[in-house]
Amino acid sequence: MGVSTEPRTHSGFPTGFRGAVLRPGDLRYDATRALYQGRAADEGPALIAQCVDEKDVATALRYASAHAVPVAVRSGGHGSDGYAMPGGALVVDLSAMRAVTVDPETRVVRAQPGVRLGEMDAAAQRHGLAVPAGTVSNTGVAGLTLGGGIGFLMRRHGATVDNLLACDMITVDGRKVRADESENPELFWALRGGGGNFGVVTSFEYRAHRVGPDVVAGQLIFPFDQAADILRRLPAHLATAPRELGLLVAIAPAPPLPTLPEEVHGRPVLVLVVVHTGEPASAHEVVEPLAALGRPLADLVGKTTWVRANSMLDAVAPYGMRMNLRGGYLPALSADAVDVLLASVAAAPSNPGAFCTINLSFMGGAISEDVDEDAMAFSREGAAWLWEAISKWDAPAYDAQYDQWATALTEAMRPHALTNGYANLTDDLGEEWRRGVHGSEAKHRRLRSVKAAWDPHNLLRFNKNIAPEAHAL
Ligand SMILES: Cc1cc2nc3c(=O)[nH]c(=O)nc-3n(C[C@H](O)[C@H](O)[C@H](O)COP(=O)(O)OP(=O)(O)OC[C@H]3O[C@@H](n4cnc5c(N)ncnc54)[C@H](O)[C@@H]3O)c2cc1C
Repeated sequence: MGVSTEPRTHSGFPTGFRGAVLRPGDLRYDATRALYQGRAADEGPALIAQCVDEKDVATALRYASAHAVPVAVRSGGHGSDGYAMPGGALVVDLSAMRAVTVDPETRVVRAQPGVRLGEMDAAAQRHGLAVPAGTVSNTGVAGLTLGGGIGFLMRRHGATVDNLLACDMITVDGRKVRADESENPELFWALRGGGGNFGVVTSFEYRAHRVGPDVVAGQLIFPFDQAADILRRLPAHLATAPRELGLLVAIAPAPPLPTLPEEVHGRPVLVLVVVHTGEPASAHEVVEPLAALGRPLADLVGKTTWVRANSMLDAVAPYGMRMNLRGGYLPALSADAVDVLLASVAAAPSNPGAFCTINLSFMGGAISEDVDEDAMAFSREGAAWLWEAISKWDAPAYDAQYDQWATALTEAMRPHALTNGYANLTDDLGEEWRRGVHGSEAKHRRLRSVKAAWDPHNLLRFNKNIAPEAHAL
């Protein structure tokens, strides 16, 4: 079956669809297609089908299958590639499916795909629970989970996929299936890291853990000229770090905080973002030595709640700017890798309102040690750190500068990085990268065979695409 380009206006879209159906020119069309990635707004989709329930999802997918129309899927809208709203596409929009329930007895959390991380955190914390997920509260649970899901709890409780118990999925031909360890286990293997390649997931079931409500968290901000020394000493320092420590290192422009000297505002600083979810009384044993790695300009670490801690980075993640995102796994935070990253800060373009940030997420603990590499599609083998570079700007005229900077940095990091990686925290880097991102060649082949079983005509192709087995690469 070939893929038709015929029904561009989708005038025959089923009238039985119950949610809103938006086309260019409709009142809410522009607001609905806005994504975190501002570049996605350059072109609009042909039709946005705003599903209210699973039946709507099935209706839209049956229509797409019958007309051989490729389908894009939008949940939280945070995917950096902007695959959720491609120009001219048919979009299954799940952002209105936003129910989240928590069973405090079994500690099982169920979330529909439109749920945001902050909503899941708030619901789970009412029962003293949390699902390990990401660090910015308006990120969607759906795309994050299907790619893996890392954050401040990963060292203690693993990646989001390590805590995924089951998914409900609508197949491309409109059937509802469940995937868990016993029902469709091969699909479940692929859904945990293989992204939105296999069907449209309408419900996620997670194992939650006791977390908070009180935690010790905040930021240790150091002058940039201390960054090289601190980063070189950090790995040895962290060798015995407890799993309760979540740590993200950011090299970012200093925020205009009154606690920081005015001359560093907007200039690069080194920030250790610390979230300690163990016994609050013992947090100082972990935090004080981190502060003593240098002479902080500000020590903003203190007692807070898990919900506040897990949304403190919202302030540095503005919605709708143009952006690019590159990253990968590092087997170690070597001095050479640190040199490359710090040199790139000096080489970053500088334009009004624009900024570049480099993040380093400290792995180890549960995410690295407790789950076998081949247990699911998500790969973490050999990864001690995840590096990530985010550029943000507003004017299309700056696209080339920031893309060149990100590409040069990616090339310079290549000798220091692993070939496997975390698909969600980088833009799609092409076919060769996609073949390696899940780890071994055997895992890639297995993913292609699951893709062939569930989406043989590759209708779900607006994603970090896994070609179905029968299709030549
Ligand atoms: C500011 C920011 C902070 C982030 N922080 C973290 C972090 O701390 N940890 C982390 O792990 N990641 C993080 N990410 C990356 C994030 O996990 C991915 O961007 C993820 O794709 C977001 O999911 P979404 O549902 O919001 O996005 P969307 O753009 O809606 O979806 C992304 C893609 O996932 C697929 N998809 C989405 N929903 C479904 C579904 N229901 N069924 C099938 N396929 C689907 C589609 O291919 C879609 O194009 C962050 C991203 C941003 C922009």
